[in-house]
Amino acid sequence: MIIDFHTHTFPDAIAERSIAYLEQKGHIHAYREGTLASLKHSMRQSGIDICQVLPVATKPSQVPTINRLSYELNGRDGVYFAGAIHPDCEDVPGIMDEIASHGLKIVKLHPDYQETDFDDPRMINIMARAAERGLYIITHAGLDPAYPEHIHCTPDMVLQVLDELSGLIDNKLILAHLGGLALTEEVMDKLIGKPVYMDTAAVLPFYPAKAREIIAAHGADRILFATDSPWGDQADFVKRIRDYGFSFEDEEKIMWRNAARILGLNTL
Ligand SMILES: [Zn+2]
Repeated sequence: MIIDFHTHTFPDAIAERSIAYLEQKGHIHAYREGTLASLKHSMRQSGIDICQVLPVATKPSQVPTINRLSYELNGRDGVYFAGAIHPDCEDVPGIMDEIASHGLKIVKLHPDYQETDFDDPRMINIMARAAERGLYIITHAGLDPAYPEHIHCTPDMVLQVLDELSGLIDNKLILAHLGGLALTEEVMDKLIGKPVYMDTAAVLPFYPAKAREIIAAHGADRILFATDSPWGDQADFVKRIRDYGFSFEDEEKIMWRNAARILGLNTL
């Protein structure tokens, strides 16, 4: 069993345009077309059973449309969706109620694309309202290549949020990119052992040895296998994790057991 906790898809009508735009803006390369069909094809080729798609709302007006589609598609063919929210949304409690009532387990924040620091009061409000309803929160963490001039989610901001929401958000927060893309030293110093999950999205090919060090130090109980597909190659990431040579038990936790628990797939 393999669960990829962090993937992206785009509506068929705009996938080609969106991928081209993001490739140029973020100086990144897409391994797939970015459609839902291309993700399912990649899953089959890579032996991945379940994926979670993380839609990002860059404007409050996008939230209802994105979420309506996610409610409709959630769980079909092994593809699960996180709820979208934007820091400028007006009725945060109402949106969180709706996300929870449709059976979604996770809410996605992207401080860079939402141009809001992770420890901004509006972000903290979203996380508090989500955690109160038993929802998890996943956030982009560290450098985003499209916004190199300002990092909107640093390890210090994460510590600030953990402090402010202490007791409420413990073990409910998932930091993408092993705690902070391109901030490996700071992650090692400040976040190892904190009550947060980290996903492996994007970073494995960038700095494989450092990534292994962070995974081993933080511990397999709070690591989630993730690729960032289409920005990461799923088959390559599966091979990279296996090649790290963790124990069978640890590999199972990383590859799917932790994710299954969060997604509520307890029958696996
Ligand atoms: Zn991503």
